[in-house]
Amino acid sequence: DFKRADRIANITFSQIAQISEAAAQMRAQGQDVLALATGEPDFATPAHVCDAATAAMAAGQTRYTPTAGTPALRDAVAERAGVDRDNVLISTGAKQVLSNLFLASLDPGDEVICPTPCWTSYPDIIRFAGGVVREICCGADQGYKITAAQLEAAITPRTRWVLLNSPSNPTGAMYSQSEIQALGAVLRRHPHVWIASDEIYQHIAYATFTSVRDALPDLVGRTVVINGVSKAYSMTGWRIGWAVGPQAAILAMRDVQGQSTSGACSIAQAAACAALLGNQALLAERAAIFRNRRDRVVSAINATPLLSCTVPDGAFYVFASCQATLGRVTPTGDRIETDVDFCRFVLADQGLALVPGSAFSLQDHFRLSYACSDADLTDGMARLRRATEKLI
Ligand code: PLP
Repeated sequence: DFKRADRIANITFSQIAQISEAAAQMRAQGQDVLALATGEPDFATPAHVCDAATAAMAAGQTRYTPTAGTPALRDAVAERAGVDRDNVLISTGAKQVLSNLFLASLDPGDEVICPTPCWTSYPDIIRFAGGVVREICCGADQGYKITAAQLEAAITPRTRWVLLNSPSNPTGAMYSQSEIQALGAVLRRHPHVWIASDEIYQHIAYATFTSVRDALPDLVGRTVVINGVSKAYSMTGWRIGWAVGPQAAILAMRDVQGQSTSGACSIAQAAACAALLGNQALLAERAAIFRNRRDRVVSAINATPLLSCTVPDGAFYVFASCQATLGRVTPTGDRIETDVDFCRFVLADQGLALVPGSAFSLQDHFRLSYACSDADLTDGMARLRRATEKLI
């Protein structure tokens, strides 16, 4: 028998993937399924970005790249962040940045403070790297954000990182400058704790976005920011992300990357360069479209009996409570006991795929992605309402 390594013993197959596969199977059987479950913009990659990729290929940029990234892309990122090239590492998506970061820094038993609800992959990436996840529950009553008191209480001598994600997947919550500064005041008292700040949704924000680097300039020596082109420029398939941080951290991550994937794709890096250096007006245009959809979804959900949600400040998700559906019974006589039951029912009854909150470590909720067309959104809201109205 194939023996799975102990290292991955506690790593589960993603619940998001489970839902997506169930939805795909229903579709293959000819059922009418609408998935509002994925985390990728429905927009096309901008034409000038695709053109830059074609030009790079034609110019022979098809060889191995330097492990830390092409000088052109590192410089483009560095210029935006106000740092030197040495402070930048280019990787195959923000996801690889996160795995490089934890593989490069965690010894067995080292702890990472992870405010929840959080992106599904964080806990598994940390565990995979040998770390211990310290999940800190941050509910709707605190805007899904960790407080200074919670942070203070979670820090131990083994804490290596606090992992922030603003705007957040799945809640869309965004930390203001003063909220980041309150966390910074705690961290100043604990010099062994570093900050990992995942800012991949920076440009999909409906209020003023503040980078942790800008809010806490005196802590940049122990801050690593994670970002990339996937969400902002609709480039999920190109797989380009980056880290901005102190050189020692960048070098450690580069060494990990050098023995796993090497330098990221040459063509994709040329495309990412064009995205960063080209027309930026599209960022605001797309954010305005997302904002419009957000408003529609928030009011539709709050007008649906048994469901409610807060107003997210960024990203393209609504994280809604389905707590009032628990204990209700479906037309086929099944009792809804959990958020997973609720999402299963909505998928079976209306062919609408959502992701249960427990996939993000907060039960009694679900995540709906509004990175889809207006028509699909209208359809999705109607399906959600029809399903919920059937519960008695
Ligand atoms: N960080 C967060 C919070 C995300 O939601 C995602 C994608 O869903 C990523 C990182 C990964 O981004 P990339 O596609 O660049 O690997």
